[in-house]
Parts: sequence; C-alpha cells; structure tokens
Amino acid sequence: MDLSPTDEQAHLRDTLTRFLAKAASPERVREAEPLGFDREVWDGLVEIGAVAMGLPATHGGAGAALADLAVVAERAGSAIAPAPVVEAMVAGRLLAAFAGPDDAWLGRVAEGTALLTLAVRPATAGLATLVPGGAVADAALVLDADSGDLVLVPLRPSGSAIENLASSPLGDVATTAPDRVVLASGHTAATAYALALDEWRALTACWLGGLSRAALDLGVQYATDRKQFGVPIGSFQAVQQTLADVATDLDGAELLAAKAVWALDEHEAVADRFASMAFSFSAQTAEKVTSAALHFHGGYGFMEEYDVQLYFRRAKGTRLLLGDPRGELLELADRIFPGGTAPATTQPAVVASATLPADRERRGPDFRLGADVEAFRDEVRAFLAEHVTDDVVEQAYRTGTVHNWDLHRAMATQGWISAGWPAEYGGGGRSPLEMNVLSEEMYLSGAPVDGMGIASLVAHTILLEGSDWQKATIVPRILSGEVICCLGYSEPESGSDVAACTTKAENDGDEWVINGQKMFTTLAHESAYVFLLTRTNTEVAKHKGLTMFVVPMDTPGIAITPVHTMGGERTNITYYDDVRVPDRFRVGDVDAGWKVMMTALVFERNAAWYGEAVRLLDHAAHWAASAPGPDGTPRLADPLVRERLARGAIGNEVSNLLGWRAAWLASTGVLPSTEGTMAKLFTTEHYQRSAGDFIDLLGADGLRRHGSPGAPADGWIEAVYRHSQVTTIYGGTSEVLRGIVAERGLGLPRNR
Ligand SMILES: Cc1cc2nc3c(=O)[nH]c(=O)nc-3n(C[C@H](O)[C@H](O)[C@H](O)COP(=O)(O)OP(=O)(O)OC[C@H]3O[C@@H](n4cnc5c(N)ncnc54)[C@H](O)[C@@H]3O)c2cc1C
Repeated sequence: MDLSPTDEQAHLRDTLTRFLAKAASPERVREAEPLGFDREVWDGLVEIGAVAMGLPATHGGAGAALADLAVVAERAGSAIAPAPVVEAMVAGRLLAAFAGPDDAWLGRVAEGTALLTLAVRPATAGLATLVPGGAVADAALVLDADSGDLVLVPLRPSGSAIENLASSPLGDVATTAPDRVVLASGHTAATAYALALDEWRALTACWLGGLSRAALDLGVQYATDRKQFGVPIGSFQAVQQTLADVATDLDGAELLAAKAVWALDEHEAVADRFASMAFSFSAQTAEKVTSAALHFHGGYGFMEEYDVQLYFRRAKGTRLLLGDPRGELLELADRIFPGGTAPATTQPAVVASATLPADRERRGPDFRLGADVEAFRDEVRAFLAEHVTDDVVEQAYRTGTVHNWDLHRAMATQGWISAGWPAEYGGGGRSPLEMNVLSEEMYLSGAPVDGMGIASLVAHTILLEGSDWQKATIVPRILSGEVICCLGYSEPESGSDVAACTTKAENDGDEWVINGQKMFTTLAHESAYVFLLTRTNTEVAKHKGLTMFVVPMDTPGIAITPVHTMGGERTNITYYDDVRVPDRFRVGDVDAGWKVMMTALVFERNAAWYGEAVRLLDHAAHWAASAPGPDGTPRLADPLVRERLARGAIGNEVSNLLGWRAAWLASTGVLPSTEGTMAKLFTTEHYQRSAGDFIDLLGADGLRRHGSPGAPADGWIEAVYRHSQVTTIYGGTSEVLRGIVAERGLGLPRNR
C-alpha cells in the first residue's frame, strides 16, 4: 500500500496549480459566467497535455493511467476551472476504443482542435438533455437508449448555455443529427458506455474532492479571521464540530475516489462498485462541505462577491448530473446485490494481484497490501474460522465480557498478541499493515476483541514510555497471553476531561500510596494489571500533575464492583484504598502521565472497528434477501431497503479506508494522530446510524431481542442497536474527537 502520488503526478499537479492560479482565478471564473467556459483555460489545459494524455499512444495520446487524469480532475475541481475537462478526457478514451488511429475526429481530439464531450445520461426520444460541456463542445458521445447505439454527434457550439444553477456549459444534444456517426451497437455499445460512465464517476469524484477541499479552506480561513463576541468564530464549538465532521467526510471521499480510480486502472472485478460509491459519497460530501463553508460566512457567503457561493452552486449542480442522487444509491445496490441476491459478505473483495507486478511501476496511489500481508490475512482467517465459533460469539454476548481466554491464549500461542512487537522484545515484528489485517479480520469474524486490544495497547505504550524492568517483566506476561490489562482513566467527576483526575498517588519512600475511585474499568475482573492514571501534583496546571502506573490488580486495597450496561457489556467501578505500589510500577516520569496517556490514546483510536459495521450490514442484507415483503417478493427488492443498504455499504468502505490510511501512515513511521481520530469518529458515527437505519427496516419485529423466537437476523440488529450507542462515547466521545480534528487537523483557533 502506498497512498502517495508518483513523482510525475506531483510534478503535473504543480504545473496545473501554477497555470490555474492565473488562468482560472476566481475573477476569471466569474467572468466566464454564465456560460461557464473560458477558451484560454481550455487551450492551456490542452497545451499542458491534460486533455489528450489519457488517449492510447497509438492514437496520439500518452497512454496515461486514470490516476494521472485524476490529478487533472482534482486540480480543475479545486479551481472550479471553466472547462469540461473531465468529460473531454473520458469521451476521448471512449472514442479511442472504437476509432482507428487515423480517425479524423480522434486526430482533432488528440491535437486539441476539437472539444469532445460525453452525455452522462442516455438520450431518449432522440435527445440527450443537459449534457455537460454540450454548449461548447464540437462533438458529443451519446448512448441512444432507443436504438442502443453509441453515437458521435457533431455539434455547432451555440456559445450560450442553458442557464443553470452551476453556471456550467450544459447543452442539449439531438442524436437524430444526419451527420451522426454510429460507433457501436447493442451489448458492445452498452458495455463501453458503462465503463466510460464509471470512469466519469471516479474522475468526477476527484473533481468534487478538489472543489470541496478548496471550499473547506475558504470556510476555515473565514472562521479563523472573522471575529464575533470578541473571538474568532472558528473557536466556537458549533462551528468547529460541523467543520470537523465535513473535513472527516472529505478525507474519506478523497480516499474513496482514489480507490475507485485505482480499481478501474487495475481492471478490478468490483471497480464498478467503487466508482458508484465514490460518485455518490463525493457528491454528498461536496454538498455538505460547501453548504457548511457558505453557512459559516454568515450573510457574506450569500453575496456574489464572495467566492464560496461559486463552489456551493457547482457542488449541487454536479451532483444532479446523473439525476436524483437516490437513484445513484439504487444503482449501487444493483451492483452489490446482482440479481437480487445477497453475497456472503457485503465487503467487496479486491482481487487484484496482491503485489505490484515486477515489470511495471506504481501508477499512482496503490491500495494493494502486498503478498506478505495477504498471506498473513489468509493465515488469520483460517485460524479465526476455527477458533471464533458461534459459541465464542454467543458467550461474549451472554456474559457481557468481551474477552475469551481460550481464544486469547490460542492467539498468544500463534504469537499474535505480540505480533506487532519488535523481535528484540520477543515479538513477531509484524508491520502496522499486518497488524491492521489482524485487527480487521478479528472484527469481521465477530471475535471478542477487547481483552486483546487493551492488553496490546498497554504493552505498546510501555514499549514507548516504560522502564527496562517493565519491558522485561510485565510486557512478556502480556505478550505470552498469560495476563490482560484494564484501563483506569475515567472517574466519577472526570470523563472527557480525563486530566481532571483526582485519584491520588502520594510518594512514601520507594512506594506510592494510591487512593481514589475509577469508573468504567472494563475487564478489571479479568485483568492482572490496571493502567492507572493518578494525580501526583495539585500545585500545577491539571495536565502537568498526572502520573501513570501499571498496578497489579491483586494489590491489597483494590476492590471491584460490576456495572451492567444497556448494550449488555459488563464494566466495573474500581476502588483504591491505601493501595501501596513500588515505584518500579510507575510508567514514565513523575507528573508526566499526560504524555503517556496521549501515546496510549493514539493506539486506542486506530482500531479497525469498521468490521463490526460490515457484520451489521451483512445481517441486514441476508435478512432482506430472505424475508418476504407484502407482495411476497423478498424485501431486498424494495427500493427503500436497497437505498439504506447501499448507504450502509458506502459508509463501511469509507470507514475501512480511513482506518487503512492510519495504518499506512503508521507503516511509514508517522504517528497518525488526527487520521486515527478521524477513523474512529467516522466509523462509530456511521455504525450507529446504520444500526438505527437497519432496525427501522425490520419494523416492529426489530424489537425482538437476540434469542427470542422469530427475531429477524437472529436479533443481532437489535443487539447492535443497543451496543453501537457506546461506541461514540468510549475511546473519546465524538464531540471530543471533533474538537481534535478541528484544532489539530484544521488548525482552527482554540475553543474556550
Ligand atoms: C461500556 C463502557 C466502557 C468503558 N470502558 C472504559 C475503560 O475501560 N476505562 C476507562 O477509563 N473508561 C472507560 N469508559 C469511560 C468512557 O471513556 C467515558 O464514558 C467517556 O470518556 C465519556 O466520559 P463521561 O461518561 O464522564 O461523559 P462526559 O465527559 O460527562 O460527557 C457527557 C457528554 O458531554 C459531552 N462533552 C463533554 N465534554 C465536552 C466538550 N469539551 N465539548 C463538547 N461536548 C463535551 C460528551 O461528548 C458527552 O456527550 C467506558 C464507558 C462505557 C460506557
């Protein structure tokens, strides 16, 4: 996996940025309205080679990958450049699939003397309406829905567009023109057009990503500069939280667009799904981002002099080009559930060779994990298929203890608790990508993961912050699977404000005496150690007077009381009454506990949680495929059901990508702080929304609990509906995470 652009792409990006900064400045974009076309911009893009480079070398192009065209699309979107460059690039490739190297039209397209566009909705009754670029193109490629022919229609650009929301050069194209050329018919035409449309979807997603990023920058800049009530408006939490949400969605949309482009370049079997998801999600995100950026400009955003409205109008205008956005969700559902059947899992299996073929270079951002990682995945899958039985899943549900000692010890025997640990400490030396695969497969299998997750989090933190004695004594016990740990951060009066901790640790010779109470000490009843945050100094700012300990749970003075939760999970209150701990159990320096906490939190937020959401969607899809609706056909045939399932699938993919990005960054040596936070924020919010959506699908039967006769999907959706509520609370509430994204990620002024 390598999500960075190639050197050539970085260079192309710079060239385009420089050109568009002048040629498509906001003033020039305005001047090009209402037509939405600037000949100089078009000519400049032609000169840079942007328009023809995607054509095969045999046909006058450079045989560039879609990943290169994605750079053009993203830059053009960022500048909302007044030229239909995405349509032109895609139409050129479609024409090249049918025209010989000597074709006159293709020759003109390659040299830039003809502007070719693509009708993104088929023509009916001889007319393709609102064709992007249709008002300025010299020819359009159109699928005639009535005859099934793919035709090239020569046009005489009118120079005036149909007035429209986006100030885009839209025009109607009549396919009955006598000089039209039939390029292909029937199945051949339909297949080629469908592929071109998917290329358009993926590149338009990149274009919308560029547009959204530029609009977000405008919003953030305005929120930083504009003051009300004596402070920058970007320091208000209402502003921060919304901008953090749309920024997170945008990161996900960019990743999804890049994955769609990659999948098309690699001829992935499921590339069509990614293309559809990318268009849907990027278009929805563009609408959200531009709407937020406009809103936070107050009344000024509404004024034509302000640039943000230019972006706002084009976002919605682009989203509508394929029709009602809900139709695109149904299209996606058709792709996920072909023939109205639910696959074994809704998680798309990417089958491209796991490794980049030796005889070629990377084309751009590359999503394959590598043969080693995939081989490890196979090993993990086989292991989990054997060990995570229905009984194991059921036991965790019944007891509320999301830990299974047999599974844990079997994992330890495999060397997987210590798999990510460096070999010098007895670990498996597995890479962050392999560790993410392990975690991903565990969640996908439904394995009870909490015990292992917390144990490895504590072990990792000790590796970075602990003493040699702790590394030699405590860590091996954790990694061998002998013991697990629990986290003692939260207290009755300090939850989100964890630094307000009052559990006191006082120095007494070579020992510390601890007194206090911790809330929600999950797995305390199974743990050998508690990773305990304490107050050691009350004379300094609250963050500066904390110290972390790893305290043996069998130390006299510790008491545990169970707490049962709505989601079924058991957690605990733990009490510390004159608990005496030798100094060697202190992790990090005295009063430096906050730094230790921060390291630990990064590990907590990077888990591949989205597997839970995949299992949820699978339950809903299988139920829908088998449950009859009022007319006797399966519920999966109902558009209301299909639309919800499609939305669930998109959110799952975005969650997956945000998680993998964090893992990839970690594999490059970067501690993915904001990126891990975004992954946790998006994944849990989406999971919770999906649970609400899917229990609604079940109607009154959705009330039936797991285990009760007749419960749809065996009651698992009801169980998840309850459980999912806590995921936006523990590991940092969504509000706290949005604050981190807003201030650390977007650089908004500090909230007060
Ligand atoms: C099942 C379960 C298991 C848990 N396991 C553990 C564990 O093992 N170890 C552990 O230490 N803790 C654990 N927790 C505790 C969990 O981390 C806290 O519940 C969480 O941090 C929130 O703290 P709180 O419950 O005190 O809520 P509060 O912090 O009081 O928050 C209440 C509400 O106010 C909002 N809010 C608070 N501050 C702000 C702010 N600055 N801006 C905007 N909104 C704000 C929150 O987002 C939330 O919606 C667990 C909790 C549960 C429910």
